[in-house]
Amino acid sequence: MREIFSHRDLTVLGYYKSILEAEGIAGYIRNEHSQTLGFGFYGMFQRLGFLEPVLCIVADDEFERAIAILSPHRFSDPCDHEEWLCSACKESNPAAFEVCWKCQTAKNE
Ligand SMILES: [Zn+2]
Repeated sequence: MREIFSHRDLTVLGYYKSILEAEGIAGYIRNEHSQTLGFGFYGMFQRLGFLEPVLCIVADDEFERAIAILSPHRFSDPCDHEEWLCSACKESNPAAFEVCWKCQTAKNE
């Protein structure tokens, strides 16, 4: 068992887990069962920073492959598409960047 990463939103972790399972990597979400305590109770602990769900994989030796599979996905939430593509070099940039981190071309140029 090895942790890959945690996220406060269980639906995000479920999304990543389904990506891994499509690639034949068995994963599970630790602290997922916390939700059976009831959403309000769980939400209270979330705000305090406890019981944050963690996506884990079962086989340690699949870790590198799992990271490689998730790396195109893991820095952008499924509900957050604010990254932009540089028109000059096609590199993706975080929404906060006004110029391309790679070639310094301005965002909307
Ligand atoms: Zn660029």
